[in-house]
Amino acid sequence: MYIIGIAMIIIGVIGIILSLIWFIKDSNNNNSIKETKQDNLCPNCGRIVKENSKFCGNCGEQLF
Ligand SMILES: [Zn+2]
Repeated sequence: MYIIGIAMIIIGVIGIILSLIWFIKDSNNNNSIKETKQDNLCPNCGRIVKENSKFCGNCGEQLF
């Protein structure tokens, strides 16, 4: 039973480490998504524009 207890602790620690790695990966992915959204600005006036809009709602600049 002693060996089984140690094995369970090791498995638990590995699970915690893997979940931490996944958490770090998810936070990095979220940051990259936020960065891409921040890049969605009008090149003419700098206003934030919607992702699929072809023209700036503020100055009418054509996007993409
Ligand atoms: Zn604009």
